Amino acid sequence: MLQKVIALIFDGLGDRPVPELGGKTPLEAAATPNFDYLAAQGETGLMHTLGRGVRPGSDVSHLAIFGYPPQEYYTGRGPIEAAGLGIELQSGDIALRGNFATVDADWNILDRRAGRISDTGPFAAALDGLIIDGIEFIVKPGTGHRAGVILRGKGLSSKITDADPHSGDEPVSQVRPLEESPGAHFTATIINKFMKQSSEILHNMLLNRERLEQGLLPANFLLLRGAGIFPSFPSFAEKYGFNACCIAGGGLYRGIGAFLGMDLLDSPGATAMPDTNLAGKFRTALAALEKYDFVFLHIKAADSLGEDGNYAGKRDFLAEADRHLAALVKGLDQETLLLIAADHSTPCQLKAHSADPVPVLFYGPGVRTDEVTSFGERACTKGGLGFIEGKDLMPQILNLLGRLHLLGA
Ligand code: ZN
Repeated sequence: MLQKVIALIFDGLGDRPVPELGGKTPLEAAATPNFDYLAAQGETGLMHTLGRGVRPGSDVSHLAIFGYPPQEYYTGRGPIEAAGLGIELQSGDIALRGNFATVDADWNILDRRAGRISDTGPFAAALDGLIIDGIEFIVKPGTGHRAGVILRGKGLSSKITDADPHSGDEPVSQVRPLEESPGAHFTATIINKFMKQSSEILHNMLLNRERLEQGLLPANFLLLRGAGIFPSFPSFAEKYGFNACCIAGGGLYRGIGAFLGMDLLDSPGATAMPDTNLAGKFRTALAALEKYDFVFLHIKAADSLGEDGNYAGKRDFLAEADRHLAALVKGLDQETLLLIAADHSTPCQLKAHSADPVPVLFYGPGVRTDEVTSFGERACTKGGLGFIEGKDLMPQILNLLGRLHLLGA
């Protein structure tokens, strides 16, 4: 009887026919005997993650897949990324995304990334814990020049503009309320005060003087954007009764896992790039089944290669993933359901996300098989699942595990 789940999500997996690949998609053109074996032994279909004709962003499509309707639970990237940095969020917190940047005395932006600074730990630490008018600022370093910022306290609102002008040619904007509410006015005022105080603190840091002496750009400003309120909602464990973990290299996906209350597991060499250690990730996922009954395993590179228009690279990466998939499948026991899906298509032709549905497959004891014997966009149109939506995935999983409640008598 199935009791556990590995949900393997290939970001941006779906694609469109590529003339240079003989009219096949990268997935169809790749040699994928293991994907094909799973398709032949399992049940397949196609999924419109957010419904037909909706072009999904990665964050909202993952929320939909896990059964959290984005219109209810998505309040911006801020809370998701902050969760991924290991900040324990509380209901009512306002989360923002931050960039350590270089500005001149008039707050004109000289470099949005402070010369591609890589270790912002000391700069974040210098600002972490600041209290302004009773509101606490929690500041944690992210990857590269990035940081996560939380405002914690009473009477806050996320209905405010960005301080980040999103281009290097304009000065930092004063934050303004987006609505006529006391919370929005209060929050805008507090963040404007924070920008003044934090820029003074950063300006005076010895580390920044040292950077200037070394000919490096100082990290003298924290540019803020993407305010979102952390909503009150049931965690993945509370909603489904799964003890879940997340294995992902990319910050956003770690954020999704943490946002839903999943434990974040590190996997050696997980880079979210084409060079990621796939064997290591699959080993980590199998080992995680000892402790967890739901493993969210995210693999990023197909999406990035699609956004680069690199159809040969996308094909080769999927073939590489297929080679490592053999060990994962071999390691599965009779209690584990394997789901392979994607959050959206990223056609090389568009170099962007599209609304084209993505292939989905379920594999495990008791899963009904269909006539499909290869894993690809075209083949899966004939699959037993038919066309589903992202919101159908979790109910399907619960059904296969015999955990759906009976409707009626
Ligand atoms: Zn994505």
